[in-house]
Amino acid sequence: MIDVLIIGGGIHGAGVAQAAAAAGFEAVLVERKTLGHGTSSRSSKLIHGGLRYLESGHFGLVRESLHERRTLLRIAPDLVKPVRFYIPIYDKTSRPAWQVRAGLGFYAVLGGLGKENRFRSIPRSRWDELDGLDIQGLRKVFQYWDAATDDLLLTQAVARSAADLGAVIREQVEFVSAAPAKSGFRVRLRTEDGEQEELCRTLVNAAGPWVNRVLGTVASAPPLIGMDLVQGTHLVLEEGPTRGIYYTEAIQDRRGIFLMPWKGHGMVGTTEKVFTGDPEMTAPGQDEIDYLLENVAHYFPKLNSRVIDSFSGLRVLLRGQGDLFRRPREMVLRPGAGTPPRLVTMYGGKLTGYRASAQKVMKLLRPVLPQQAPRADTAELPL
Ligand SMILES: Cc1cc2nc3c(=O)[nH]c(=O)nc-3n(C[C@H](O)[C@H](O)[C@H](O)COP(=O)(O)OP(=O)(O)OC[C@H]3O[C@@H](n4cnc5c(N)ncnc54)[C@H](O)[C@@H]3O)c2cc1C
Repeated sequence: MIDVLIIGGGIHGAGVAQAAAAAGFEAVLVERKTLGHGTSSRSSKLIHGGLRYLESGHFGLVRESLHERRTLLRIAPDLVKPVRFYIPIYDKTSRPAWQVRAGLGFYAVLGGLGKENRFRSIPRSRWDELDGLDIQGLRKVFQYWDAATDDLLLTQAVARSAADLGAVIREQVEFVSAAPAKSGFRVRLRTEDGEQEELCRTLVNAAGPWVNRVLGTVASAPPLIGMDLVQGTHLVLEEGPTRGIYYTEAIQDRRGIFLMPWKGHGMVGTTEKVFTGDPEMTAPGQDEIDYLLENVAHYFPKLNSRVIDSFSGLRVLLRGQGDLFRRPREMVLRPGAGTPPRLVTMYGGKLTGYRASAQKVMKLLRPVLPQQAPRADTAELPL
């Protein structure tokens, strides 16, 4: 009997498969397409604490993410790399320089004040080295450190690590439904060859934007939580900056947007727009493309911003009050199917925090799993 059956081969599913196998359990992950097919190949690719989450008071999320950033820089140096971030402050920027400086100071404190948390202001005499950043009305430029990755490669590496520990990773296998069975679930899976049944003790729903669709097919599952899908679009541009990532304020609505180097080109993102269709059909809208290009032209007027690729991903944000941009980005874990739970559903979260989220999932499920000797510690396993 499978100990942990995981639905979804994004970063969270891969993370749970790795954590379950490392803890000594028999883990099977099913992904209906290929690993990283969903949001986990369409993110901004940052491994970061999230400077802007300080403004909305999500200090716990920032601290945990900075801790995870440190771990990933250590265990995955080929995949997760430190990057310089630049924040230009203009006459018209909504946050004054003192506020940004205070935010960076607090960010450094939450990150543990190590070398990687240093920040500084770039002297005016060196502004001409900043990738053609417009200097009209520029008052100050701050530089700090965060990290970036290739989200698809990271997801594949975590899944590979899970497989090395004994987990079974099954692509092109769709979870269809689950019903309670003696000490667990009887699960229906669909493959190219038709439907098959498996028995498992516990289920982890890591289906990203499809999470409620999957939950709706599990008999005895708790009621669905209201959620919004929020589309974020990125454009890959002919040219991009080379020195680092520029964190600018959108001229239209003052949201933060990033312009970054990407595989010899540039990338800009992201937008934030409620999405109500089929998650499979998410695609950049012309309004989003125009919004991003206007900002590139404004801040980097000399850049060749021919669009060579574009993609959209969907964030899962729990329904609540307040504007989308300020809603919590923490992973919300919803236990179900008994006490202690045999089912855990993962809502939202961040690429950066996948390892910590996976640990929390395993902690919830441990009481119904057999005693096993751990095989490894995911904080020490090289990726
Ligand atoms: C625009 C955008 C930018 C972001 N930028 C960042 C960032 O810079 N840094 C950061 O830390 N976080 C970022 N995030 C958040 C992060 O990308 C997501 O939290 C994370 O990728 C979600 O991973 P997941 O595994 O939960 O979902 P997904 O990656 O969507 O994976 C779910 C998987 O489940 C599969 N699936 C669905 N139904 C079934 C079924 N019935 N059977 C089998 N498989 C199924 C899907 O095919 C899919 O592959 C960003 C998010 C967005 C939208």
